[in-house]
Formats: sequence, structure tokens, C-alpha cells
Amino acid sequence: MGTLYVVATPIGNLEDITLRAIRILQEADLIACEDSRITKRLLVRHEIDTPTISYHQHSGEEKTAVLLEKLRAGQSIALVTDAGTPGIQDPGGRLVRAVRNAQISVEVIPGPSALTAALSVAGISADSFYFVGFLPKKKGRQTLLKELERLAIPIVIYEAPPRVVKTLRDIHAYLGERKIIAARELTKKFEELQEGTVTSLLNHFTNHRPKGEFVIIVLPDIY
Ligand code: SAM
Repeated sequence: MGTLYVVATPIGNLEDITLRAIRILQEADLIACEDSRITKRLLVRHEIDTPTISYHQHSGEEKTAVLLEKLRAGQSIALVTDAGTPGIQDPGGRLVRAVRNAQISVEVIPGPSALTAALSVAGISADSFYFVGFLPKKKGRQTLLKELERLAIPIVIYEAPPRVVKTLRDIHAYLGERKIIAARELTKKFEELQEGTVTSLLNHFTNHRPKGEFVIIVLPDIY
């Protein structure tokens, strides 16, 4: 039997990868990845020539069966996503569950995630926090926002640039005026942290179109 390695990869800066992750990616028989063009950039940077196979959010049971077959045949597979930690608002959970159910070994190679990167640089007490990931676009959005209003701990939201303003508007509407820390393009050239009230960030992003990848941290009060 082979092993499935769940490997965290950089969220931007290609140097943010552990020595163990590089070794496992080199030694694996196959790398299961979302977008092979994105993973190839990382592999070229670290001179890794392991072949890739696609595994993404739309991969169904057939693809899982193919990977299980390879693991049963003794191959080792490294699972990566486009950025960060597999399974954290990314594919991975279902495959890992299927592999574990098949009594095949799974090992984790921990590393970057936008979630921990944003919290660690925000300068807040993040002993506990609530991770939303992406807010639902329609169904369930209102209900979830109403539930979030009651939390007295930091709330962490992933957001794509075209939706940042809408999400800030909804935070204002459902959670009221709060202090927000918006962490943008972490580990990349234009890394930036913006903090202020929801209103001040809304003003800012209405005048400066949001660009890049965002983690929005909503604090329990406005201070
Ligand atoms: N698995 C990843 C992780 O461990 O963080 C998350 C993947 S999710 C599909 C992509 C979202 O993560 C982006 O829309 C953004 O909200 C956040 N993200 C990823 N890289 C980021 C970065 N360098 N700076 C800020 N946010 C980032």
C-alpha cells in the first residue's frame, strides 16, 4: 500500500514551503493537484519533476477510485492545492476520508494557510476565532450573517476581490459598525494590511478597486 501525503504549499511566495514538503513532492510517485499550471510553477522553482494528476473540486468518485487504485498498487501520492493547506476551503476532505476509510495511510505535511497567516500578522488576540471561509453567495448568507452577529470572537472571512465591497456592506448591515482588518496578497509583492471601521474600509474600497486575494477579519467591537 502507498501513502497519501496531504501537503501544504505556499500562499504566494514560492519560498514558503517546508523542507519536508519539498522532499515528499520529490519522492512521491504522483502529485494530485488542482490546476497543474499553478503547481508546475512551484515544482519548477524547486526542481521537482514528479508527474501530476488533476484533482479538483469537481473531481467525483471516479477520480477518487483511480487514486485509491494507485495507492493500493503501492504508489505514494502527494495531494496539493493551488495555495495553502488542502481541505481548508479547498478540495481534499472527501479524498482523505475515502483513503482513510480504505485503511490506507494518510500523512500530513503542514505549512502555510491564509487563515493562520492573516491571524498571526493582524496583531490581535486570536486564542479563539470563528472561521467562515467564503460566505455563501446567496442561499444561507443572511442566516449566517445573523448568527455571526452574536459572536464575541474574531471572525475570519475569505473573499474574492469583486465581492469585497458587497461583503463589507453586508457586515455593516448585519453586524453593525466593527473594526475590520483586511489582509491582502499575504507573502506577495503587494502584501498589505488595512484596518479601520467597516465604514472607513468601505469608503476606501469604493474609491480603490480591491485587487488580489483577501482575508477579512471582523473584530467583536469597533476598537
Ligand atoms: N487552502 C487555502 C488556505 O489554506 O488558505 C485557501 C484556498 S481558497 C480557494 C483561496 C482564498 O484564500 C482566497 O480567495 C483568499 O481569500 C485566501 N487567500 C489565499 N492566498 C492568500 C493570500 N496570499 N493573501 C490573502 N488571502 C489569501
